Amino acid sequence: MTPTDAQGLRLSLEAEGIHTLLVQFTDLQGVAKGKLLPLHQLETLLNEGAGFAGPSICGTGLGRTGARSEYYARGDASTLRALPWLPGVARIVGDGFVDGQPFDACPRQVLRRQVARLAERGWRLRLGIEPEFFLLRRDAATGHWGPADPTDRLDKPSYDLKALPRQLGFLQALRGALEDAGLTVLQLDHEDAHGQYEVNFAHDEALASCDHLMLFKLAAHTLAERAGCVFSMMPKPFANQPGSGLHFHVSLWPTDPGDSDALGDDELRPFMAGVLAHSAGLCALAAPTVNSYKRLVVGESLSGTSWAPAFVAHGPNNRSALLRTLPGRFEWRLPDASANPYLAAAGLIAAGLDGIDRRLDPGPACTDDLFDLPLAKIRARGIAPLPQSLAEACDALAADSVLATALGSTLQQQFLALKRDEALAYARHVSTWELERYAALF
Ligand code: GLU
Ligand code: MG
Repeated sequence: MTPTDAQGLRLSLEAEGIHTLLVQFTDLQGVAKGKLLPLHQLETLLNEGAGFAGPSICGTGLGRTGARSEYYARGDASTLRALPWLPGVARIVGDGFVDGQPFDACPRQVLRRQVARLAERGWRLRLGIEPEFFLLRRDAATGHWGPADPTDRLDKPSYDLKALPRQLGFLQALRGALEDAGLTVLQLDHEDAHGQYEVNFAHDEALASCDHLMLFKLAAHTLAERAGCVFSMMPKPFANQPGSGLHFHVSLWPTDPGDSDALGDDELRPFMAGVLAHSAGLCALAAPTVNSYKRLVVGESLSGTSWAPAFVAHGPNNRSALLRTLPGRFEWRLPDASANPYLAAAGLIAAGLDGIDRRLDPGPACTDDLFDLPLAKIRARGIAPLPQSLAEACDALAADSVLATALGSTLQQQFLALKRDEALAYARHVSTWELERYAALF
């Protein structure tokens, strides 16, 4: 950006009452990180970036000394938004740079690379990302976590209109904040677990949608704290309740501005086939915690119907399949609320492009309710289950060369090391369930 453009931008922000910039990036875990800078730093932020100690950021693999120890979050001017819940502060999303070059292991840069590969073929991907989340509170006396609203106790709480108004203060504050920050909020509802809600906002270009999700998380954390509760994107806080998905509604569009229609269902098929073919490796990116695999369960779950997919299948409006197809788009139901949206979206594009390159076919549509069909019948139809643990998903990711290329070797290694450690730490932990089951048994 030229000095004149940057100065013009600074003056217009000043006129809006902005005095502080919050530069935000997303670490490997999908957690928002950043720092505050006075507005006069705008030009430096846009041209060089704000500096951070590289090794202090999860997943960079950067050393402690030398030029490559410094991580720069370089502001993307198109993302500047005033944050209504922090008056005078505007958020700007940063892209990772190291030693003056785009940093290959920055999740947003990883997604940028895949978006560029799509654009080379004349396409762009639009995403509608649907966050489900819990509002929780921790009992000070017992230390137990539970819904922030203790009266939220219906057997089937989906769309419940008695519990919803009790959280209206938080939900309306969230909606107002997101709308004032430029997002189009479409709906808010009570989901199928106690203390669980969903907010939907309009679909957008892949990169922008991921930025919007991170903005939503920033707003929700702060506003929930102000309402005295904890905003949680843990995939499955309660074994006897459904978990939180982060479904991606996916459509492909031409980059040519003269051509305004989304690609049709037939053109989407090989892309979908690629997503199905790489679903085991994608699991690690889209369902990246040990807790994620309490959500993606094959067979009876303690929460009954979880609405989370467990099988690699696609079907028209089939919510029990991994891909629910709808006219002109499909819903990728794999991701859960703990996913780093940039990495999940980058993996999705790489998998879809591989399907196109290899002219894969997604096979026949599944019209069965897979939550009802006996496991033996599902297997007999050749429908594969998803990995059932983080360790299994990591092995599948390690074996997937298409996803490895998309992530780049630094990020792939960092991701696998982090996630395998997490799986190991979990495996070595002794839980209350084990004590209850075994302590007095033998
Ligand atoms: N909570 C479900 C999941 O974990 C999804 C419910 C729905 O279809 O909205 O994917
Ligand atoms: Mg939902």
